[in-house]
Amino acid sequence: MTRLPPEYIERIRLLLGEREAEVFLHTYQKPRAFGLRLNPSKLTARDERFPGIAKRFGLRPVPWCEHGYYYEESSRPGRHPYHAAGLYYIQEPSAMIAAELLDPQPGETVLDLAAAPGGKTTQIAARMQGQGLLVANEIHPPRAKILAENVERMGIANALVIHSAPGPLAERWPEAFDRIMLDAPCSGEGMFRKDPEAALEWSVEAVKACAARQRNILRDAARMLKPGGRLVYSTCTFNREENEETVRAFIEEFPEFELAREERMWPHRLEGEGHYVAVLEKHPQGSGSASGSGKGERARERSAARKSGKPDKAAEAALRLFREFAEEALPRFRLPEEGSPLLFGEALYWLPQPEGAPFGAAALAGLRTPRPGLHLGDVRKGRFEPAHALAMAVRADDAALTADFPADSPEIAAYLRGESIASPEGAKGWGLLAVDGWPLGWFKASDGQLKNRLPKGLRSV
Ligand code: SAM
Repeated sequence: MTRLPPEYIERIRLLLGEREAEVFLHTYQKPRAFGLRLNPSKLTARDERFPGIAKRFGLRPVPWCEHGYYYEESSRPGRHPYHAAGLYYIQEPSAMIAAELLDPQPGETVLDLAAAPGGKTTQIAARMQGQGLLVANEIHPPRAKILAENVERMGIANALVIHSAPGPLAERWPEAFDRIMLDAPCSGEGMFRKDPEAALEWSVEAVKACAARQRNILRDAARMLKPGGRLVYSTCTFNREENEETVRAFIEEFPEFELAREERMWPHRLEGEGHYVAVLEKHPQGSGSASGSGKGERARERSAARKSGKPDKAAEAALRLFREFAEEALPRFRLPEEGSPLLFGEALYWLPQPEGAPFGAAALAGLRTPRPGLHLGDVRKGRFEPAHALAMAVRADDAALTADFPADSPEIAAYLRGESIASPEGAKGWGLLAVDGWPLGWFKASDGQLKNRLPKGLRSV
């Protein structure tokens, strides 16, 4: 049972009126809704395996999100091997509205400015269908790591995961993005039912501090958006200071923006927690004041970034090793066309570089980048070892060697515990361990064993 601060209750009464506030407050005594979003690069409702999965988890559609579903809490999809295979992302249903309203398109350059743990990033990536570039930023290093893991689990190849404060990013990348998602740090009033601890941290001062911080982050977001671009600002809180008032103050300061739409999600009016979303559109002419450089200058910067972003010899050599590996182990896999190899120590990445986006290797210099694109693998003592991220980004039938087991088989449980599995036919070399046809990770077959290559941090014990 959630204990609510008396001042919070008072503010809700002022916001909703006595009668509606009672209905709202009553929701704290009801169970909350649980949601997941399918990863359409691996599973959609049209897949013949979907009806069985829908039955297993008791799925019902979330009306405002194409791939969103409510699930029955007791079915625990977060603990199922399909979760490890990246078939879905567990996400609070109301939170699914923000990326829907951002409406990112394939081929665009999109920034998720406050991205961890990755609900909106992975939803944006699904809408982009692997085309264009998604930059997912998180200010706190441990959260950036979780974000990178979720991006990998969902098999997203066209995303960079970076961690930076918003200010330096705005300096680096003025008017660089077609769309920006700012799911701002907030006082979290809309999550008190999901996370009763958050109610203990609430105070009027905390609300004020959050609003001030949101205004600062919004300023940085404004600078990074291209003229004609779309910025979505969202919070999971109810008070007006962090929502409507923050947005009104923003538009006053940046008159080149227009409020195109505003939505509030209330737990007593729909099946989900609290969320606020504002869709802000930047005038196609921009203002000049928010941008750090003119058009000609930006074009020069981009061209310089592309030129100096040429892969070095070591990266080219590592890519050759990857290609030899792929020819043998992943004969049907093709790297996305627009990109270049990037070597960080022994780790080889495929850096997505769509035409016109200023994100060559040089553009990332000096930036902390936990995941500069798709991690292909590591070069150790002249040998190529494939990365877990690569296993999650390919299809089981891309591989020359796969071992596929049903979700409830002892082999899948053993693999997730990090154990080796007996090999049926004396196979040799790298292969994909799959659950009902979806890759879970690599094994290396030799001496009658499929040796487990699931990263230690992802094992279930
Ligand atoms: N968008 C995420 C999702 O859908 O999974 C949730 C983001 S959460 C609401 C807000 C994020 O903002 C947190 O990860 C937090 O670490 C980050 N944050 C905190 N202070 C920040 C700041 N000053 N600038 C940018 N981000 C900040």
